[in-house]
Amino acid sequence: MARTRKIIKNSVHRALNAIGDRWSQLILEEAFRGTTRFEDFRARTGAPRNTLSNRLRGLVANGILERRAHREGAARQAYHLTEMGKGLFDSVLLAWSWGIRWDEVSPHGPAGLAHAGCGRSMLPQMVCEHCGGDISLHSCSHHPGPGAGVEEIQVTRLHRRRQPGGADETVRPTSDVVDMTGDRWTGMVISTQYFGVHRFDDIQAMLDIATNILTDRLRALVANGVFERRLYELSPPRYEYWLTRKGKDLYPHALALLLWADRWLADASGPPVEVTHNACGKPILAQVICSGCRAPLTPDNVAERRPGARTKA
Ligand SMILES: [Zn+2]
Ligand SMILES: [Zn+2]
Repeated sequence: MARTRKIIKNSVHRALNAIGDRWSQLILEEAFRGTTRFEDFRARTGAPRNTLSNRLRGLVANGILERRAHREGAARQAYHLTEMGKGLFDSVLLAWSWGIRWDEVSPHGPAGLAHAGCGRSMLPQMVCEHCGGDISLHSCSHHPGPGAGVEEIQVTRLHRRRQPGGADETVRPTSDVVDMTGDRWTGMVISTQYFGVHRFDDIQAMLDIATNILTDRLRALVANGVFERRLYELSPPRYEYWLTRKGKDLYPHALALLLWADRWLADASGPPVEVTHNACGKPILAQVICSGCRAPLTPDNVAERRPGARTKA
């Protein structure tokens, strides 16, 4: 089921639309671990068969995964990351990093990370390629880019509200980090904060989101300590929503999605938003590095310590 939404052009939203939802995020994380076969995705994500085939189909349709015949038998299909899909590694690393830093480790995600290059435990860190400085919400400025404006986008409805009871919801993953970084609506609601939109009606208008979905996501974001409410009108009581420190710390993850979408999902007019790194004044060019030795991280040189594992990463 799809409907058209008219929203302000925003690359974070384009990226979240292409990825989909928390199931797709878990599939993506597994793909970076080298998982390629349907049954392995199923065992490792816990996704129901129908949900898994639906999300795999979506990721293939959006150019993130590609289907190839498994080498052992022509009938069996394997799913591999495309070049476009591989570009999402930074966002996956930063989601993991955020989860570890804020103790929101999911059963599916790593409890710790190590860099094979230097052999140390580390947290992935986003820095400016020009000056090497840290990238955070406060070290960057946003300006309307050449592609700024309004666009109509087709949104495929993946699931209804987060309330339990729906067929999809009974077995959905319960991890906080995936809820925060892999849920399309949640990601979009968070990203409104980078553009200074704090009131319910304004957020609703910016995203063209159903009020019940927005209410639900705001409640979850406040419960998770990502948003805080600030009273701005007494009667009736009305609240603004602001990022907490924990919420602001999601910015590098959102920026990784924005930069990925500017590269892979751009329209001819160019990026809707231009981001400048304040320290050097240059257009943002970001890389994710090891906090120990500052070398760039790749899927081949990052090792995970899984939740419950006793060996130190
Ligand atoms: Zn810089
Ligand atoms: Zn290192």
